[in-house]
Amino acid sequence: MQTTQRETPGFTNSRQYREYAVRHLANGVSSTPRTAQLPVPVAMDRALDAILTDVDGNDYIDYTMGYGPLILGHNPPEVVAALKAEIDKGFRTASVHRGEGRLAELIAETVPCGEISSFVSTGTEAVQLALRIARAATGRTRIIKFRANYHGWFDSVHVANAPGNDGPGSGGQDPKASENITVVDWGDAAALEKVISSDYAAVILEAAAVNAGCFAPPEGFLQAVRDLTRKHGVVLIFDEVITGYRLALGGAQEMFGVTPDIAVLGKAIGAGMPISAVTGSRAVMEALVDGRVMHRGTFNGNPLSVSAAIACVERLQRDGAEIYPRMTAQAAAIQAHINAEAAALDLDVCANGVGSAVQIFTGVRQMANIADLAKADRSRIVRLTEMLMMNGLMPLPRGLMYLSAAHTDGDIEATMHALSKGLHAYAT
Ligand code: PLP
Repeated sequence: MQTTQRETPGFTNSRQYREYAVRHLANGVSSTPRTAQLPVPVAMDRALDAILTDVDGNDYIDYTMGYGPLILGHNPPEVVAALKAEIDKGFRTASVHRGEGRLAELIAETVPCGEISSFVSTGTEAVQLALRIARAATGRTRIIKFRANYHGWFDSVHVANAPGNDGPGSGGQDPKASENITVVDWGDAAALEKVISSDYAAVILEAAAVNAGCFAPPEGFLQAVRDLTRKHGVVLIFDEVITGYRLALGGAQEMFGVTPDIAVLGKAIGAGMPISAVTGSRAVMEALVDGRVMHRGTFNGNPLSVSAAIACVERLQRDGAEIYPRMTAQAAAIQAHINAEAAALDLDVCANGVGSAVQIFTGVRQMANIADLAKADRSRIVRLTEMLMMNGLMPLPRGLMYLSAAHTDGDIEATMHALSKGLHAYAT
């Protein structure tokens, strides 16, 4: 789809909407990071394929992709058809239905660790369930997490999310809730070896650190984590809320060839509908199967979300051999273009990437590994993404860009021009 070209987008309707929304909606948004956008949080009206259109009629080539879930783009026909068919059968929320068994079977066919699955609505909830299963399975309580890895907003794991802050990520968190969390540097197997012991129930990590800035795991890191967790009888949990069905059909565990005991899936599995999953080996998931772990939720496995997820995974299973290499090549081209343009303009800007995700950094010219994160100047990224938005691209305000199966060669070509113009505007 072609975007509507315009020199300077106007945001009159977005501004008016914001004035109206803040009267009764806290901060005018439903998730805090959405306020970050400059010059104003843009209100969206509609979307199709890779194009988002805002309430002022401005079109953008979308790289937020719903903050990750829209792996097939906006309104993929097979998902829309599945949803329409499901609506006609009545919502049947909280009922047992045939779809949930089929989706669990699809996960078993596609995700290496995915023998037994269970569904919830969000990634945050799925992480809680995974930790509960690990604790019940081992009879231990302590958990190891890694710096700058994000695992949702619940108190126990919402610590050490951002570089330079090992504490809570929000005011109002119960400090006691994270007492049993030990924080270690991501990518550093020696640091993990120093702290891990048979006191721990689980090690949880983003196998590819997308939230930190799209870092692939250093050579040998995941295997070392696997070996150490096995040695101490600790449950290994990959948080694949972003990477599941995004980096590869089988997620990061397929891409990097290391199988955890449990994976948390979210975002892409539902193609935009709210659904997440905990999936793992029968041995570990037995703690849930035999009832030691209580798992509740009115909306868990709701037929609408499940029907979308089935349509999405079936499409990825059918066409993944074409979709994944194409998205990865597009992301690599975008990353290379940003780096080349930044160098040509003599800018303190660079891009990193893993699979179909790209992270732009400001304040640095190179991001060799996660240890360099402290050198980035996060305060300037929103200004850069504003310049990209002004030129018809919609990355996340923090500079993350997601590809989808709906991005065409034409979209990528238009993106290259817009990146050049946006970086030039940022430079001046
Ligand atoms: N885990 C990771 C790696 C995530 O990136 C996120 C969300 O971005 C979550 C967990 C939480 O998922 P949700 O926002 O669906 O609660």
